[in-house]
Amino acid sequence: MAEAYIMRVLNFGSLNLDYVYQVEHFVQPGETLSAASQSVNAGGKGLNQSVALAKAGAEVCHAGCIGTGGDLLLDLLNENGVGTEYLRAVPSIQGNAVIQVNPEGQNCILLFGGSNQCITDEQIEQTMKGFAPGDWLVLQNEVNNLPRVVDVGYARGMKIVLNPSPCNEKLKEVDFGKLSWLLVNEIEAEQLSGSREPEKAWQLLHVKYPALSLLVTLGSEGSVAFTKEKTVCQPAFPVRAVDTTAAGDTFTGYFISGLMENHSLSDCMLLASMAAAISVTRPGAAQSIPRKEEVEKALLTGIFPCTHWE
Ligand code: ADP
Repeated sequence: MAEAYIMRVLNFGSLNLDYVYQVEHFVQPGETLSAASQSVNAGGKGLNQSVALAKAGAEVCHAGCIGTGGDLLLDLLNENGVGTEYLRAVPSIQGNAVIQVNPEGQNCILLFGGSNQCITDEQIEQTMKGFAPGDWLVLQNEVNNLPRVVDVGYARGMKIVLNPSPCNEKLKEVDFGKLSWLLVNEIEAEQLSGSREPEKAWQLLHVKYPALSLLVTLGSEGSVAFTKEKTVCQPAFPVRAVDTTAAGDTFTGYFISGLMENHSLSDCMLLASMAAAISVTRPGAAQSIPRKEEVEKALLTGIFPCTHWE
């Protein structure tokens, strides 16, 4: 008897080195400022979402480009069980972000695409050959050649999920009619539809792209999903947030993993919402994403971090 095919997900996305500097204030024009401390972390929306997918139990591969200095990103993906056979080494500096964090916890970020802007047509064609119709394709807007990735993935029969972040002019070249799901926050909903109000944004997008489903995340207000069949609202879990970096990426990974396992829409949102809530109670990005056992236990027992703070 033929073995059952295990559905896979390909994340064609960014990988960044985040250089984080603690500063007394953001550096001013003409000023030279000493940072109090520095750390180097793995980041990039692509990498965070791959780690979230893997921790949620999905069979995930990450495609993209590793540049000079990016070895620790490769190690992190491997350690978390993300398939790295579709990553290519390129002779470019690794994509990176220089992040200043002030004593109030605010940040300002300087992003350099580097290796994340080196994706070729040939790489896209070769990568997609490894995937079958019905497999999932997860995308963000931090790599070059995104419209081509969408076109080739769609021609392959993959189900495409786009988190269009950062939202910019480049998205105009993407054929949204080829997407199954669009995952946005309120600001992105407004930039893409013209309305910040989720219901209205859905109506406007649904008229233009009838095959599309929409998920809008609303930070501590929760999330709402719209499909042709139904609308599901999910409040956020009441936790004490210490760092909301990667909350959206955690939600995305768990939500897609739930869809792949054919859970109901409300169960997907419940799972994703708990995973994201746990992630905001911890500092950092990829390392703040909880494993599935922890998320399921919290849902089962109703006990989750920092429920009972003074
Ligand atoms: P993004 O970081 O992409 O803008 P959001 O801020 O909308 O995404 O957060 C994504 C999801 O993470 C929310 O829908 C919610 O489920 C969860 N979340 C975010 N902030 C909090 C918070 N302070 N408390 C609990 N859950 C949160």
